[in-house]
Amino acid sequence: MKYIVIIDQGTTSTRAIIYNTLGEVQSSSQEEFKQIYPKPGYVEHDPIDILSSVRSVISTALTKARVKYSQILCLGITNQRETVIAWDKNTGEPVYNALVWQCRRTKERCLELKKAGYTDLIQKKTGLKLDSYFSASKMEWILKNVKQSQVLLNEHRLLVGTVDTYLLWQLSGGKIYKTDYTNASRTMLYNIHELCWDQELCNLFHIPMEILPEVCPSSHLYGYTDKEMLGFEVPISSVAGDQQSSLFGQCCFEKGDLKVTYGTGCFLLLNTGSSALYSNNGLITTLNCQTTDIPSYALEGSVFVGGAVIQWLRDELKLLSKSSDSEELARSVDNTNGVYLVPAFVGLGAPYWDFEAEGLITGITRGTNRAHIVRAALESIAYQVNDVTLAMSKDMHQAIQFIKVDGGASENGFLMEFQADISNVSILCPFHKEVTALGAFYLAALQQKIYTSLEDIKQVNQIEKVFPSKMDEKKRNELLNGWNKAIKKSQI
Ligand code: ADP
Repeated sequence: MKYIVIIDQGTTSTRAIIYNTLGEVQSSSQEEFKQIYPKPGYVEHDPIDILSSVRSVISTALTKARVKYSQILCLGITNQRETVIAWDKNTGEPVYNALVWQCRRTKERCLELKKAGYTDLIQKKTGLKLDSYFSASKMEWILKNVKQSQVLLNEHRLLVGTVDTYLLWQLSGGKIYKTDYTNASRTMLYNIHELCWDQELCNLFHIPMEILPEVCPSSHLYGYTDKEMLGFEVPISSVAGDQQSSLFGQCCFEKGDLKVTYGTGCFLLLNTGSSALYSNNGLITTLNCQTTDIPSYALEGSVFVGGAVIQWLRDELKLLSKSSDSEELARSVDNTNGVYLVPAFVGLGAPYWDFEAEGLITGITRGTNRAHIVRAALESIAYQVNDVTLAMSKDMHQAIQFIKVDGGASENGFLMEFQADISNVSILCPFHKEVTALGAFYLAALQQKIYTSLEDIKQVNQIEKVFPSKMDEKKRNELLNGWNKAIKKSQI
């Protein structure tokens, strides 16, 4: 038997998962690493911590599964997106900490560009909103503020990229300098229509285009791991940004396929096939995982506070001792008794984009109890997801038929039933829960010809459970009216 090693390099932890060639998980290992907050709004990682966590989880996972180096077929990578690292080509040493996607240090710079009228140009070329989340302004910040980066640049020794590029370079002993389409499409420097780094945007952000990595499909022979770095030399067969990887892991291969990850926030990606839709409803357009050079696109939207509202009930209001208790409590009442909770703790994301909106609980009466509040909190997750799916179907001019779900809060059966009802769709829960790593596994397995087509993958990808929509239209409209009123109140 041969094995595939998948690295899932996330924002707070790194995981390695060992799959056999049938796609069965043999073992996994996870390690958290340090989050560095030098100032309010600033978030950094030490790239050396990231690399050592990768090496360590691979080694532990291989030991756990008793897999020998000679049994490893290939390696694949999925990673936190947008985060930027710059390093020295000669020594491999980072010139600065990684600037994490959450880091807001370039907020002012992005505002300045907005005022100068670049919003539309950037959305047209990159599909993104002009925002400091994306890589471009972070790369510019390093080049402008880190002296060593200028020194290295003048000596043609500076390399700069997203986390996948840094890992590819390090794990190959400095031989691979590449990224994939999904990661490139989050940099705000990549033209998603022409599939190339964009000269005008590179000029705008003062990034010399020649220092950027080569962009390849997500399923691709990137090169080989370095024996000295990992102990084994095998092909690196896949690279994909985490959200796109989970879309692929959910087998959302066709136009109209939608996945929602219910984590701290909720992340929605809708496959729109060969058309790059320009959203009129506050969504982002991005590249999907590809197996060839033919592009395929997705619309992306996120809900800032998803599962986190349940954490808030648990940790701040002490209404729950565990997140999962929310299900039984919500089911203990027939409805919220008119209560709506809008968890606009940090404003509202798509489709509202209102950073001034405030969280609220409305409709409280003398009869309101703990169960009503908990139920309203769970329902708020579904309402917010529904708002984004409505925006998506408007942009696509097509109704959504089903949602494939994953993430911690998707384990909540009440939430999934309510989502099916309120969105009038079927909710499909996959058998394999780790869909982000699974996407990178499928992409690597395709490169290795374990699967010869997407159809092969669909045959092995199993759905564990389906939640059909059961609510009648009248009831749905009543509830949605109440939610829309509550949203309006939160925006005053
Ligand atoms: P992340 O990857 O963003 O850390 P996870 O996918 O691990 O998140 O999901 C954790 C989030 O989901 C937490 O905010 C938690 O409150 C919520 N959550 C976990 N289990 C449940 C549950 N059974 N019901 C409702 N919310 C849950």
